[in-house]
Amino acid sequence: MSPVAVQELVLAVAVSGTVALMAWRAGSLSRSGAAAALILGTVCLTAGRAWGGFLVLWFIAASLASKVGQRAKEAATGDVVAKGGRRDALQVLANGGVYAATALVAVVRPEFEAVAAALGAAALVAAGADTLATETGTLAKGRPWSLRTGGVVPTGSSGAVSVPGSAGMVLASVGFALSAHWVGLLPASAVASVTLAGIAGAVVDTIVGAWWQARRWCPSCERETEQHRHRCGTTTIPYRGVSWLGNDAVNLLCTVAGAAVMGALLRSGGS
Ligand SMILES: [Zn+2]
Repeated sequence: MSPVAVQELVLAVAVSGTVALMAWRAGSLSRSGAAAALILGTVCLTAGRAWGGFLVLWFIAASLASKVGQRAKEAATGDVVAKGGRRDALQVLANGGVYAATALVAVVRPEFEAVAAALGAAALVAAGADTLATETGTLAKGRPWSLRTGGVVPTGSSGAVSVPGSAGMVLASVGFALSAHWVGLLPASAVASVTLAGIAGAVVDTIVGAWWQARRWCPSCERETEQHRHRCGTTTIPYRGVSWLGNDAVNLLCTVAGAAVMGALLRSGGS
């Protein structure tokens, strides 16, 4: 490694480590989540400042969105959602893994950087759109309905849709795609297609969440939940959906779908 490369790597570790440590102290990441963020952040910063900058911006926006009205949201969803506000390593990888993979492609094969950046940005925009949809939908008053049954469901349920949640999803896609351009990761001409791909990924997340995501049942409370151990202390039993298709797998699928739709748009655009 050249001295410049070593310097860049040390800087990447220092910046990622600082962000991960701050996020852990602020309660946004668990210990394993902070370790995963350190590795992911280092990979992305090695690809360049634009790659690292977009990841950091994304992460700050997603963490802030989770923090806003956290108590009210936990009260509304504490019965249902599998994990709380602290993101663990699996959650970090589910959201940022595809983006880090495209950053690695940009490092190893710089001639593919433009395509890798478009695919990676679409993956992260999809994850951000899904996160913001959940956060705005949960914070807003009024009950969401299930995409599958059309019936009203508890706030925080996977596959649930609401008007504020959908508005949050679209606005977040626009905002995240614009910020990817702002940090220099995307040309202005790619912002519209990355926005569309991000929305598509979040829609796939909702559809898979509604039809196939694993649901569990608490026999004591006689309530549906995504928790393995319900907050009452009872171990829950598989109830419906694909048992291994948990929230992290669905989130990963959301980012893969965002990148795949972006790939299709690039091909149809001939670029
Ligand atoms: Zn229970």
